[in-house]
Amino acid sequence: MGSRFDITVVANTEEEGSAYIQLAIDEIKRIEGLISSWDEHSQTSLINEKAGVEAVIVEAELFELIQRAVRLSALTDGAFDISYASMDRIWKFDGSMTNMPSDADVKASVAKVGFQNIVLDAQKHTVYLAKKGMKIGFGAIGKGYAADKAKALLMSKGVQAGIINASGDMNSWGQQPDGQEWKVAIVNPMDKHKTFALLPIKDGAVVTSGDYEKYVEFGGERYSHIIDPRTGYPSKGIVSATVFAPSAELADALATSLFVMGIEAGIDMINQLPKVDCIIVDDKGLVHQSDNILIENMNKQ
Ligand code: ADP
Ligand code: MG
Repeated sequence: MGSRFDITVVANTEEEGSAYIQLAIDEIKRIEGLISSWDEHSQTSLINEKAGVEAVIVEAELFELIQRAVRLSALTDGAFDISYASMDRIWKFDGSMTNMPSDADVKASVAKVGFQNIVLDAQKHTVYLAKKGMKIGFGAIGKGYAADKAKALLMSKGVQAGIINASGDMNSWGQQPDGQEWKVAIVNPMDKHKTFALLPIKDGAVVTSGDYEKYVEFGGERYSHIIDPRTGYPSKGIVSATVFAPSAELADALATSLFVMGIEAGIDMINQLPKVDCIIVDDKGLVHQSDNILIENMNKQ
C-alpha cells in the first residue's frame, strides 16, 4: 500500500509469533490486491477503467467496503468521498508540482467527483462510476481497513493480544504480557520529538492523519493532501487529526473527514457518534478535542 506496517503479537514462542506475523502480512497483501489503484489488475482499477462505460462485478468484500465508504460520504456531507481520486490528475503530492493549478483545471476536474455517481447494485454486486474520467481511491480508508482485517484474522487464529500499526493507523487488542494496557503516544505535530499524551487503547483503534508528511507549498501557503471533494481544493487550517473509534476503518475515514469539515463542524459530528473521540491540532498549534477526551495542559507543551 506504499506505507509501512508494524505488526506486534503476543505469542508463546518466537516461532509462533513469526508465523502469526506472516499471516497478517499475507492478509494485508491480499487486501492490497483488491483495493490498489496502482495495480492495474486490481478490481478497483477495473472499476476506474470502466467509468462511464459499464458496471463491474466485484467481490463481496470490495462491494461492501465501497458501500460503507458511500455511507460515510452521506454521514460527513460529502467531506469524505472515495471519488476524490480523479483530483490526483491536478494535485500531486510527490514533489512534482511546481505551480498552483488554474481555477479552470480544478473546476473541470472536480466535476468528476461525487459519491452520488457511484452506482451500487447489491443484487448483482456491481459498481458503476457514472461519469467518464471518474475514479475511486482508498487512500483515506484502505490502511485502516487492512489493519482491521489483519487484526480480525489473528484474533480468529487465537492470538490473544497484538497491535497492527499501519503508518499511524493503529489497532490493538488484548493486553501486554505483563497485564498492562497498550498505550499510544500522540505526537505534537508542531514538534515531532514531543508527545502530548500517552493514552491507553483498549481493544480499539486510533488513527492520526497529518499534513506534515504530504503537502505542497505555493507562495508560502501550505496545501494538504486531503482535498475538499466539493471544491477541488486542499483543506486548510488543521495540521493533525487523531480519531479514536472501535474500528481503524472508521477512525481512518473520520480523521480524513475532519480536515475537510473543519474544527467546529468536525467535533460536532464526532460528539454525536458513540465510542468515537478526536483530538485536532490547528495550524496555530492549538489543540481541540471532543467532549470525552480529557488531557490536561495539552496546549502548554
Ligand atoms: P494518511 O494517513 O496517509 O495521511 P489519510 O487517512 O489522511 O492518509 O488520507 C489522505 C489520503 O486520502 C490522500 O492522500 C488521498 O489519497 C485520499 N483523500 C484525499 N482527500 C480525500 C477525501 N476528501 N475523501 C476521501 N479520500 C481523500
Ligand atoms: Mg484517513
